[in-house]
Amino acid sequence: MADCIFCKIAAGEMDTELLYEDEDIVAFEDINPRAPTHLLLIPRKHIATLDELQGEDYHLLGDIYRVANQLAEEAGISDNGYQIIANCKEDGGQVIYHIHFHLLGGRKLNWPPGE
Ligand code: 5GP
Ligand code: ZN
Repeated sequence: MADCIFCKIAAGEMDTELLYEDEDIVAFEDINPRAPTHLLLIPRKHIATLDELQGEDYHLLGDIYRVANQLAEEAGISDNGYQIIANCKEDGGQVIYHIHFHLLGGRKLNWPPGE
């Protein structure tokens, strides 16, 4: 999608280091980190919101969780734990309309979210 910042990052068109990439998924650091580790995992495919996922897309969710676990291990946050968070649309706090999963860790994280 032409004007989507996350499509551009996935295509390597931005000055953003990709910490992980494969055919379907890329991961990079959030520009405004909320925790010592704050990565974003996205599908290369432009899907605007979680509720637009379709049949052929659902395998991406398993792939993203597999990569998140791998990156958490590499970041050294697996033992203490982490959060994987995805926001959907306005009430969910979504700002970038290309689906993404936040991987947060490296400190004690608040629960419950959504305040
Ligand atoms: P949302 O609120 O949509 O779930 O989260 C969007 C996230 O994308 C925010 O945490 C924000 O800091 C991050 N973000 C926005 N623009 C950029 C960017 O250009 N580069 C990177 N690396 N992260 C971004
Ligand atoms: Zn996009």
